[in-house]
Amino acid sequence: MAEPQQPQQQHQQPQQHQPSQQPARSRIPGSGLAKGLAVTLRTMTRRSVTAQYPDAQPELPPRTRGVIGLFEENCTVCMLCARECPDWCIYIDSHKETVPPAAPGGRERSRNVLDRFAIDFSLCMYCGICIEVCPFDALFWSPEFEYAETDIHELTHERDKLREWMWTVPAPPALDPAAEEPKEVAAARKAAEKLAAQEAKAAAEAAEAAEATGAADNAADNAADNAADNAADNAADNAAGNVAGNTEGDA
Ligand code: SF4
Ligand code: SF4
Repeated sequence: MAEPQQPQQQHQQPQQHQPSQQPARSRIPGSGLAKGLAVTLRTMTRRSVTAQYPDAQPELPPRTRGVIGLFEENCTVCMLCARECPDWCIYIDSHKETVPPAAPGGRERSRNVLDRFAIDFSLCMYCGICIEVCPFDALFWSPEFEYAETDIHELTHERDKLREWMWTVPAPPALDPAAEEPKEVAAARKAAEKLAAQEAKAAAEAAEAAEATGAADNAADNAADNAADNAADNAADNAAGNVAGNTEGDA
């Protein structure tokens, strides 16, 4: 019986490190020093960029995340911002109010009324999530950043202070000329056009009514004048006739 053949073991020889074929760089003595001096000279001739804050105010980009402003009128107390804030540093209190029906026989409605809106900037990490999730455009970034306090409690800004920051929010950049008109602007423009058309129609009707009233007054004046003239003429004729008759009778 033939013995099973042992698998031939293949011994791989470790690859010998081949010396680099590239020629060694020749180093000129003192070239490093020359390079360093060149950098120094280049930098010396450039304008200094040191900002002399607070003597000179920095020119910040318009989308700087300085502080958050609240436009209270747009807030519906939906609580989305407070729920999404990763630091839980937005505090909102509200109560419900019943609004009477708009038309007789309608249904009463309830709405949320804001009692408190505050942001604790000692906890805020300026992530901007609250501004992004607000569905009613009630929160905005302001580039103001000078609101450091010595008392940490003062860093909780209540609604009045948050509203004041609103006036420092830069205006949004102009729309591209080819861009579609924003929905709210289109709605406001249509409402203004409708109102102007209604006012023009009411003015035209009033003018027509005034004209008709003036014509009626003139007709009445003319009729009265004619009647008075006729009556006077008749009376004069009668009087003259009577006088003539009496004179003939006497004769
Ligand atoms: S910026 Fe971020 S951390 Fe600050 S209040 Fe808004 S969601 Fe909270
Ligand atoms: S998400 Fe906007 S509308 Fe809702 S509570 Fe916050 S600020 Fe107000």
